[in-house]
Amino acid sequence: MSPAATALVADLKRANVLASVQSLLSWDEQVYLPSDSAARRAEQSALLAELHHREATNPRIGESLAALESLGADAAEDERVLRRQARKDYDRLTKLPAEFVAEKARLDSASYHAWAAARAARDFAQFAPFLERQLGMARREAELLGLADAYDHALDKHDPGITAARLETLFAELKRDLVPLARRIVAGRVPDRRAALCGFPVEQQGEFLREVTAALGFDYGRGRIDVSLHPFCSGDGHDIRMTTRFDADNPLDSLFSAIHETGHGLYEQGLAREWIGTPLGEAVGMGIHESQSRLWENQVARSRAFWQFWEPRFRARFAPRLDGMSSEELHRAINAVQPTLIRVDADEVTYNLHIILRFEIEQRLFRGELAVADLPATWNALAQELLGLTPAHDGEGCLQDVHWSGGAFGYFPSYCLGNMIAAQLWYAVRAALPGLDEDLAAGRFDRLLGWLRTQIHGRGRRLETEELVRAVTGEGISSRHLVRYLGERYLPLNGG
Ligand code: ZN
Repeated sequence: MSPAATALVADLKRANVLASVQSLLSWDEQVYLPSDSAARRAEQSALLAELHHREATNPRIGESLAALESLGADAAEDERVLRRQARKDYDRLTKLPAEFVAEKARLDSASYHAWAAARAARDFAQFAPFLERQLGMARREAELLGLADAYDHALDKHDPGITAARLETLFAELKRDLVPLARRIVAGRVPDRRAALCGFPVEQQGEFLREVTAALGFDYGRGRIDVSLHPFCSGDGHDIRMTTRFDADNPLDSLFSAIHETGHGLYEQGLAREWIGTPLGEAVGMGIHESQSRLWENQVARSRAFWQFWEPRFRARFAPRLDGMSSEELHRAINAVQPTLIRVDADEVTYNLHIILRFEIEQRLFRGELAVADLPATWNALAQELLGLTPAHDGEGCLQDVHWSGGAFGYFPSYCLGNMIAAQLWYAVRAALPGLDEDLAAGRFDRLLGWLRTQIHGRGRRLETEELVRAVTGEGISSRHLVRYLGERYLPLNGG
């Protein structure tokens, strides 16, 4: 490494250590923090955020970057990656004036409380002025960074290289094929017996999901799983903190939440440990991250092959609770489809329709084709068109998600990109590793994880979202793999 690259790496890692402490505090806040200690935690987090920003915008980083940039094409390949990605991050942090950052923080806080109150009152009008201001901030942020398109910028923050135009094509294709497929699957549904899965002791659920996630390859020597209201995964390959939640009458929820978060954890644990905190040891973006969690949760853990191995263990662990349920009934419970108005409760088939809805709304808002005041009516019309359901009030319609209150536009599409990429990777890995089903049926995941480590995890941020998918699968992102997978998995179970 050149002296400039060595200095840059040291400074990036130093800032990243502070970020990791912030993340640990936030994990603790959601898992262990006593109820009356929130004010102290806010103080701790604010100071750390300030210290982290100071380190991440250290002028020394700018000097190292300038020195690296002066090397031009002479820089080694990894140094070019470092230079390109660190420059992007550094500019984003340094080009926004302190007043703008402070104003945004104040707005986020006020806007979050306004959203929570509006949602409780089921009244969008209370939240509308805050959404209007968040849209204004998003536009100003792009201007300050010298970027022409505010929505493209919002998308790029979550999935590098992905633009609104690209998503428009992708989602239009997905919508064309998925809407009729979802209708067919929903129309052919047979009642499932999920409700019969009750009285599963929480402690044994915890033991079982630890057994499963350790078998997938999660290293509990540098990570752990705890309980929180909403499952999440934070930390990095040095120390991963995952959470799940337990319900004695819904054992599949804790298990699949844990497998989902394990997919995120495996990605982080698979990044090159010596480069953690630098673009060579960081995840590409949210869409790729989500492709990892969804692949393990859905393609792998909802498959028949997977349960060939785990069903006897599941039954033995919880005997005699599954005695009245056949293997086929268990498989149907694991793959139940039920359209709902609420995104976070949606099944794998209809989930993507919730994202298409939000993308269409965001696009119209940013293009100025939709006034904020008209959002509920547009939302409800799209819900009817896509899901066949109309919200009775804004609480189960346009106010259900927290994202927009924090100005997190361009975030939702990542979930759907993740689903598309997961299906695309699934067909690629099956072609690359013949006999994968036999592996799953024998409880072996090392070949699959090894392939993901080489193809995705180990590459860090060397490639942008779609470049990476192309490098691994030989083609750009395409919705047809997801549509094929959903048809193959769900039509046979639903009268198809
Ligand atoms: Zn996730």
